[in-house]
Amino acid sequence: MAEVRKILVVEDEKKIAEVIKAYLEREDYLVTTTASGAEALTLADSGNYDLIVLDLMLPDLSGEEVCAELRRRSDVPIIMVTARTAEDEKVHGLNIGADDYLTKPFSPRELVARIKSILRRTHSDTEFLAEKIDFDGERLVIDVARHEVRFDGEPVALTPHEFKLLLTLARHPGRVYSRYELINKVQGYDYEGYERTIDAHVKNLRQKIEADPKNPHYVLTVFGVGYKFAT
Ligand code: CA
Repeated sequence: MAEVRKILVVEDEKKIAEVIKAYLEREDYLVTTTASGAEALTLADSGNYDLIVLDLMLPDLSGEEVCAELRRRSDVPIIMVTARTAEDEKVHGLNIGADDYLTKPFSPRELVARIKSILRRTHSDTEFLAEKIDFDGERLVIDVARHEVRFDGEPVALTPHEFKLLLTLARHPGRVYSRYELINKVQGYDYEGYERTIDAHVKNLRQKIEADPKNPHYVLTVFGVGYKFAT
């Protein structure tokens, strides 16, 4: 039997929170709701949630602050929900570490579909040790258990930082990572000059796993934001 997934819904508009909760419970998710960003952080620390739905406009902390704080503490998937529609807000939502982004009004069905898709991806993360990711008919292979990468059939010597960087990006093709997020994932901390460090890691990685490092096929630049793995 499938294990029950726990979802935290952070939304101060009561009606919207109720609708989301009803839809998710119909899909057998265990749902907690809160209207407060501060309470969301407390709940997230103790609740062991599989995913968080986060409204951008909250009465106490902003959704951005909550998202950034959650990201500092964990990898829990976050879907941002907002009434703002500007494209730069969307980029910002992803920039601060949200996994996905929905603009109000959205259909609850759309939200459920996005949640299912994200949980499918993160679930496979837990089967970590046996993990082998390959792209383009095994042209690029990442063998996690062996800590090995092969490109065009040849083993590629990556530094531990390059390996972590590649794995982080390749696990979620299409997901945009900011340099800040990447440095935290790759080196476990941030410091001044981290942007250039990540750029250097990416440059070195491209030399090793791209047929044409100047026109990358796998590790793509997202201008003004960071990097993503090609879908
Ligand atoms: Ca709100």
